[in-house]
Amino acid sequence: QPLDELIASLTVDVPDHPEPGVLFRDLTPVFADGPAFRRLVAGLAAPENGDPRAAALAGGDDAGADHAGPPFDVVVGVEARGFLLAAAVALSAGVGVVLVRKAGKLPRERIAADYVLEYGTATLELHSDSIRPGQRVLVVDDVLATGGTLAAAVALVEQLGGVVTAVSVVVELAALGGRQRVAPHTVHALWTT
Ligand code: 5GP
Repeated sequence: QPLDELIASLTVDVPDHPEPGVLFRDLTPVFADGPAFRRLVAGLAAPENGDPRAAALAGGDDAGADHAGPPFDVVVGVEARGFLLAAAVALSAGVGVVLVRKAGKLPRERIAADYVLEYGTATLELHSDSIRPGQRVLVVDDVLATGGTLAAAVALVEQLGGVVTAVSVVVELAALGGRQRVAPHTVHALWTT
């Protein structure tokens, strides 16, 4: 079964959550299914649309062919569902995982980005020493809706000098236009609906 069809079949649509008029896509049954979760993680870890700047940074056109490793040095996950995806992707790729958290959770020196989301406003934070300049970063979250969350996460990584080589999500809600908000970075979605 194609992965997008598998995700679609396991996702549960919840009308009017968390407020009237919002159709919430509940992915928790996808995460709870062992074979599906394994395929999600493999798909998120292999973004087809890597940023060509990553190859240049790594030392030229053939840099990718010379190395067996993944085209990223660290995986950034967005609280909270992005955490479990990012951790699994990082483990599968043999790299570390870094947390983009909601305001007030990180204990040390941090940078912050305010953003507007589908239902409300919020602030995301990142420890100032969590990304080294030039590090290649894969950013992961569960759902791309309006794109505000991922745009803020990307901005935080870039503020620290990280190079976002790919952005991966499980589901893209295309009607909300989030892809444009994250541009010029390409979003790799396992299911677009
Ligand atoms: P955005 O900032 O793109 O509007 O919203 C994306 C963020 O809100 C993601 O972190 C995602 O977890 C959450 N989100 C928005 N809509 C949905 C939805 O329908 N289902 C799920 N599971 N999360 C959503």
